[in-house]
Amino acid sequence: MEEEFSVFSHDIVVVGGGLAGLRAAIEAHDCGFDVAVVSKVHPLRSHSVMAQGGINASLANHPEGKEDNWEKHAFDTIKGSDFLADQDAVETFAKEALVNLYELEHWGCPFSRFPNGKIAQRPFGGAGFPRTCFGADKTGLYLINTLYEQTIKRNIKIYEEWVVLELIVEDQTCRGIVAYSLPEGELEAFKAKAVIFCTGGNLRIYPKSSNSITSTASGVVMAFRAGLPLKDMEFVQFHPTTLYGLNLTLTEGARGEGAYLLNDLGERFMSRYVSEAIMEKAPRDITSRAIQTEINEGRGVGGKDYIYLDMRHFGANTIKKRFPGIYEACMEFRGINPVKEPIPIQPAAHWSMGGIDCDYNTDTEVNGFFVAGECACVSIHGANRLGGNSLMETIVFGRRAGRRTSEYIANGRPKSAGNGIYREALLKQEMRFQGIFERTGTESPYKIKSELGTIMDTRVGIFREEQDLRQALNEIRELQKRYEDVRPPYKGRRYNYDLLWHLDIEGFLTISEVIVMGALNRQESRGSHARLDYKERDDKNWLKHTVARLIDGEVILSYKPVTITKFGIGKREY
Ligand SMILES: Cc1cc2nc3c(=O)[nH]c(=O)nc-3n(C[C@H](O)[C@H](O)[C@H](O)COP(=O)(O)OP(=O)(O)OC[C@H]3O[C@@H](n4cnc5c(N)ncnc54)[C@H](O)[C@@H]3O)c2cc1C
Repeated sequence: MEEEFSVFSHDIVVVGGGLAGLRAAIEAHDCGFDVAVVSKVHPLRSHSVMAQGGINASLANHPEGKEDNWEKHAFDTIKGSDFLADQDAVETFAKEALVNLYELEHWGCPFSRFPNGKIAQRPFGGAGFPRTCFGADKTGLYLINTLYEQTIKRNIKIYEEWVVLELIVEDQTCRGIVAYSLPEGELEAFKAKAVIFCTGGNLRIYPKSSNSITSTASGVVMAFRAGLPLKDMEFVQFHPTTLYGLNLTLTEGARGEGAYLLNDLGERFMSRYVSEAIMEKAPRDITSRAIQTEINEGRGVGGKDYIYLDMRHFGANTIKKRFPGIYEACMEFRGINPVKEPIPIQPAAHWSMGGIDCDYNTDTEVNGFFVAGECACVSIHGANRLGGNSLMETIVFGRRAGRRTSEYIANGRPKSAGNGIYREALLKQEMRFQGIFERTGTESPYKIKSELGTIMDTRVGIFREEQDLRQALNEIRELQKRYEDVRPPYKGRRYNYDLLWHLDIEGFLTISEVIVMGALNRQESRGSHARLDYKERDDKNWLKHTVARLIDGEVILSYKPVTITKFGIGKREY
């Protein structure tokens, strides 16, 4: 008989309390299962709360959007992706966006409305019609509060301030996780019939980043280490308009509603890059390249590395009512009044198109392991995501993950594992902690992080080329060696953020290597991946997804086809 061994046990464990995680948990609960959410921060402090401009669904509520429908939403998404999106996944997404949006409305999400009472919609880059639903410029805040209320109503168990460290996989079947309780300082195993990762993005790797400090790639790294492939990691989205110096995002909704971009000469320069009809409503990759080109060619304001976003013509009422977040950010953080002054902006790393490889059912290669939200790569965004599609992705695929997981358990639930595997996984993490504390090296993790940031910023940014990428790869591998000499100064077990930061930096180094290898290999320009030495998109050789695996400690790349359905492949012109 096995000796008594206590583990936390649930049918389904959802890792992450952002929008994708909460939506997945609600669905799994409503399918009749015992579900728990494990999150390193309180759900309402998840990165999702920062989302601003809106969430896409082809409601056709806008007077100029009456002809909109799910097929047009799907086509815009595919074109925006530079034709790298899987078209079956996009079709599912665009169709299901509608019912999901109305469900959020019925759950009480306070969307902004037109005078006739219908949910308001605004134009966003790359969309043929105004299709972005919003709550002022605080859409993420409203959405996550709406979902959080639903989890409370259902009494869903939430483990707050628990940091997941390992995904337990045995014979290609997921068995649970190991997590570290920040307040108690303890390591514990969680037994689960299925696990859903909704751990968010990873772009804190870049020093100029709009991401919250919690976006540290930990889920993506855990899956990678457990043998799962990562897809299309070289595609890093830069948001065109972040507040200069601080990189707080200023929503695309502002440009959608008519804000201008101005260079040092006071020119609205976008007509140099897209048609006059589109201008500032171009997709993010194109707009970011345009801004960076103006800066690189010396037309940044005062010769510096920023240009202006001008919304003065909106007037005080509109700015304060429709863009309170922009107004507050400018006033509080920079002392700039957007009613009276143009706003200095620059592009910053914002969103990762790549992630843990999965299909549109949120299935991965490992049985009982599902993924949704920004940590996943379904792929509906291909090489470039359209604004407003990410929030809807968290809802559509979060819900699908909850349902799929429930089906997985209902259709022949996996035989439960003995305690040995949990004991072993716990011991492994204990040894990892010990190993780190016992190090005697003198390297500073913060210095390594800062050097990595400089490499990513200068060599793996908006524009890329072979020589830079090769150098970046060598430098990252040097940092990986130096990382072995890093030790956290504080050795206590409770709330040891030094230790967490230490673990996150190890993950950053791994993910950066994957990003750079993918970028170096992909000898074309597509969406957010702009190679100065291969300026054209090359469908003959590169209409394929990059797949990265960790095999015997080495990152190995391979490729797999893009799913093309009735939408076909075309030129991407705006
Ligand atoms: C400034 C800004 C504005 C944006 N505006 C928009 C917008 O208007 N429209 C749009 O469509 N998209 C927008 N986005 C993108 C969108 O907000 C995100 O892609 C989306 O919210 C991600 O949700 P998520 O649930 O996948 O992840 P997150 O909200 O990041 O949640 C991740 C969760 O995982 C938990 N977690 C992570 N690692 C661990 C671990 N190891 N252990 C335990 N828990 C862990 C975290 O605690 C968190 O709860 C914006 C992004 C930014 C940065």
